[in-house]
Amino acid sequence: MTFATLGLIEPLLRALETLGYQTPTPVQAQAIPAVLAGRDLMAAAQTGTGKTAGFALPLLQLLTMEGPKVAANSARALILCPTRELAEQVHASVAEYAQHLPLTTYAVYGGVSINPQMMKLRKGVDILVATPGRLIDLFRQNALKLNQLQTLVLDEADRMLDLGFSEELANIYRMLPKKRQTLLFSATFSDDIRLLAGQMLNDPLSIEVSPRNVAANTVKQWVVPVDKKRKPELFVHLMRKGRWKQVLVFAKTRNGVDALVDKLQGLGINADGIHGDKPQATRQRALDRFKASEVQILVATDVAARGLDIEDLPLVVNFDLPIVAEDYIHRIGRTGRAGNTGEAISLVCADEVNMLSAIEMLTRQTLTRKMEPDFEPEHRVPDTDASGQVVKKPKKPKKPKASGGGGKRNLGKWVDSGEVAPAEPSIKPVRKVLVFNTGPRKKK
Ligand code: AMP
Repeated sequence: MTFATLGLIEPLLRALETLGYQTPTPVQAQAIPAVLAGRDLMAAAQTGTGKTAGFALPLLQLLTMEGPKVAANSARALILCPTRELAEQVHASVAEYAQHLPLTTYAVYGGVSINPQMMKLRKGVDILVATPGRLIDLFRQNALKLNQLQTLVLDEADRMLDLGFSEELANIYRMLPKKRQTLLFSATFSDDIRLLAGQMLNDPLSIEVSPRNVAANTVKQWVVPVDKKRKPELFVHLMRKGRWKQVLVFAKTRNGVDALVDKLQGLGINADGIHGDKPQATRQRALDRFKASEVQILVATDVAARGLDIEDLPLVVNFDLPIVAEDYIHRIGRTGRAGNTGEAISLVCADEVNMLSAIEMLTRQTLTRKMEPDFEPEHRVPDTDASGQVVKKPKKPKKPKASGGGGKRNLGKWVDSGEVAPAEPSIKPVRKVLVFNTGPRKKK
């Protein structure tokens, strides 16, 4: 199969040739004809599967072939993304695909001045890439009208809900024309996403290019058990031992990012960090420098790193495990992209056992553990497996008991705080309840 046989027009084929895309990826092979035929789409596709081109190419073609010229302060297609970085990245891809087409594209997001964005929108743009909050601001300030909108794309819809954008999405829904094409992309499909899809989509075609909630199989994954306080030391040790050249590291909190960057920089290691507290320009600069291999180690929170496309990234390190298990799939999706192989290493302490268990259950695999000599944890990380059970194993063979009831003592050595009962369910990803009705906002 080629892009030509999917029915794409010559200016798009020429752009793809320049980019070196030879064969459509599975998501592209399914999405392109469906979108060209005007269908709504509900697509489960991981990052790195080529989903951006899957929706952008047919969208560009439809906008070129059909519909009136864009009016002032209007957009003909809207691509909603959860983060500024992703909006920039998607916009860059769209602009590349559109290089031989007479279409205008633009990206708007918060954290930067709104005035230049308002100016730019005056003439209207064919494709607008936006984060939800800024889109609403622009709409409320009359800088943007949506009555000419033909197509809405929700990219990384699951992440938008995770980031608490359900109310924004409900507001945007009210601003849209009823007649439109809607394409929803999500790496993972929770009940909330299905609810959203039920509201927004009209007889959608479902596309699932990879098994649900399964991590990319091009990524070699393993876990190194370690005590929490020794994680920075272990990270530096592994980095030196493995001669890591370019690593994206995930930490749980903004403070965690800053602390690790400080520690690495203090050791003369070329590291930088990105998180939501940093100004957009600083985040973008750190990312650009990382992409250009001017920064060796980029430490990020999930919010800042979502959807980043970094070519040939060989290694992702989870300095902390994510609280929401689905984020693990997104994180490791930064490597092993577009057919390359990659590695994902997680430094796991006893406190994180339930998160590990939730990840293994979600990805339906038991992650290999590799003990690092001299870093064996004092607080043992209890055994886990893909069934979601935290396996409680006594350290020593049980002695016969004189009286009943005392045999389950002294197992708490594995975790800092108390025991983990074998039947205890693993942490369930905390999900926001989706409020998605057209009535007035309820006070929480
Ligand atoms: P995405 O999943 O959209 O973030 O795309 C992941 C990466 O794959 C990006 O770097 C794209 O440029 C690249 N890519 C997408 N489609 C193709 C294709 N058909 N052939 C080669 N590379 C592709």
